[in-house]
Amino acid sequence: MRVYRGLSGRLLSCGCFVGSYETYSGTTIEIVDARAASCANPSHREGARLVAATSTPTSNAGAA
Ligand SMILES: [Zn+2]
Repeated sequence: MRVYRGLSGRLLSCGCFVGSYETYSGTTIEIVDARAASCANPSHREGARLVAATSTPTSNAGAA
């Protein structure tokens, strides 16, 4: 995955720090820049791309 430029970075709730990058194709991806020692998510490895940035604040699950 070739990235065009870095956009920003953010800290996840697990403690990992991820950076947002824009690719040459114009899409934005997130890559783990620094893995937290306390992180329990095995998919959070430095240099690993995060799976589809979850931009869904609330699901369709209504107040049951
Ligand atoms: Zn993590």
